[in-house]
Amino acid sequence: MKKLPPVIKNQEFDTEIIDLTYQGMGVAKVDGYPLFIENALPGEKVSIRVMKVSKNFGFAKVLAFRNESPDRVETKGSAYTQTGIAPLQHLAYPAQLKFKQAQVQELLKKAHLDIEVSDAIGMEDPFHYRNKAQVPVREIAGELKTGFFKKNSHDFIAIEDFLIQDEEIDKAIVAVRDVLQRFHVEAYDERAHKGIIRHIMVRRGHYSKQMMVVLVTRSKKLPMFTEITAAIREALPDVTTIVQNTNSEKTNVILGRENKVLFGPGYIEDQLNGLTFRISPHSFYQINPVQTEKLYAAAFERAGLTGNETVIDAYSGIGTISLSMAKHARQIYGVELVSEAVKDAKENAKINDIDNVRFETGMAENWMENWSHANLRPDVLVVDPPRKGLEPAFIESTLKMQPKKVVYISCNPSTLVRDIEGFMADGYKVTKPILPVDQFPQTTHIETVTILEK
Ligand code: SAH
Repeated sequence: MKKLPPVIKNQEFDTEIIDLTYQGMGVAKVDGYPLFIENALPGEKVSIRVMKVSKNFGFAKVLAFRNESPDRVETKGSAYTQTGIAPLQHLAYPAQLKFKQAQVQELLKKAHLDIEVSDAIGMEDPFHYRNKAQVPVREIAGELKTGFFKKNSHDFIAIEDFLIQDEEIDKAIVAVRDVLQRFHVEAYDERAHKGIIRHIMVRRGHYSKQMMVVLVTRSKKLPMFTEITAAIREALPDVTTIVQNTNSEKTNVILGRENKVLFGPGYIEDQLNGLTFRISPHSFYQINPVQTEKLYAAAFERAGLTGNETVIDAYSGIGTISLSMAKHARQIYGVELVSEAVKDAKENAKINDIDNVRFETGMAENWMENWSHANLRPDVLVVDPPRKGLEPAFIESTLKMQPKKVVYISCNPSTLVRDIEGFMADGYKVTKPILPVDQFPQTTHIETVTILEK
C-alpha cells in the first residue's frame, strides 16, 4: 500500500526543530516525514500549522514559540528573513559561521572524504557590506517603489533599508527612484511587459567611493533622459557615471546586452589589495570587498608563489586575482567568458603597470584544452568558477597539464566536493584544511578556499 504523508494541510500541533537546511529553514519530523519551517531554529519547540503537503515533504509555519534557541537574535523586520535577502538574519552571527562550516563538513562526510574544515573567517560588522545592488522598480498605488521579490515568487515587497547593502547605495536607490517618479517614468509591468524602468543598479567603490548608477529600461527610449541624468547628478553628487541598459526580453535576467553611457566614463574604479580596478556594468566584481581581501590573502598565502611560477587564473573576471598575483609569479594566463570583463582586465593590467599577464576571452573549459595542446604547463592553477563548478572537460584538461597545485575558490560547497573527488581520482590531495570565508553574512551562501596538490 502507498504510504500517505502523516500530516494534512492546516493541521496544527506542537513539535521540535531538529535541523536547519542549507537554505536556512528549520526542520521538524513526523514519523520521519520532514516539514520545512521558515524562521525556526534547531532546539526550538514550536506550535505549527501545516501549509503544504507533498509526497515526501511538507511546509509549515510557526504559530507560537514554546521556547527560543539561545542562538536566536532580534530581527530587523521579519520580511527579510522570510524572503531570501537575509534568510539567516534570525541566527546570531557566530552561529551563522558555525552553520556554514558545518555545511561543508557534512557534504564532505556524505562523500566519505576525510578533509578538515577550518573555522569560517567572519566579519566584524556583518551588515551593510554589499558594494552592489540590483533593485526592481514597480508601481504601487500610483507611486514608484523599489524593493525585492519574495523568494521563489513574483510577489514584490517595497523596502528602503536592504540591511546588507552599503547604506550609501540604499540612499542612492531611493534618490534615483524619486527622480524617476518626478519625471513620470513608468515602472515596468511584468505581466503586460509594458512600462519603462525595470531595475536600478548601483555599484559603489569601497575605497574610491565612486558610484555607478545603471537604469535598466525595457525599451531604448527613455523620455527626458538628459533632464533625468542632470537630476540624478544633482541629487547624488558622488555619482561618477550613469548608464542606461536596455533589456527588452521577458526574463528574470536583470541586465540586457546594450549599454548607453549617459554620464561619465561608463565604469567606476575601486581598489583591492592596493591595486586599482576598473569595473564595467556587465563585469563581475566580488560584492564584499572587506572579505574579498581576506579571501584573496588566504588564497595567495596558500598558493605559495616565489616569483618563478606559471599560473593559470580560470574564471578571471576583471583580473583581480591574476593582477594581485602577478608580481609574485613569472607569467599569468587568465580566461573569462564575459568580453566586457576581459576588456576591463586588460585595461586593469595597464593601469597597474603589469605586463606578465595575458587575458583570453572564452569558455574556461575550451581554453584549458587549447593551453594543454600548446604544451602550457602551469605550476599553479587558480579556479574561481560560478556556482555550477568545473565542467568535466575542464578537469580533464587540468589533469593533462598536471599543475603542482590547484587553488580552488568556490561559492558552492556541493560542486566543490564533487570537483575535489574528480581531482582526487587522479591522485591529487587536499593538503590544507578547507577555509570558509564568509562573503555573504545573513545569507546561506558559503565561499571557501581549497588547496589540492600532487
Ligand atoms: N576571479 C574573479 C571572478 C570570479 S566570478 C574575481 O574574483 O573577481 C566567476 C567568473 O567566471 C565571472 O566573471 C563569470 O563571468 C565567469 N564565467 C562563468 N562561466 C565561465 C566559463 N565557462 N568560462 C570562463 N569564465 C566563466
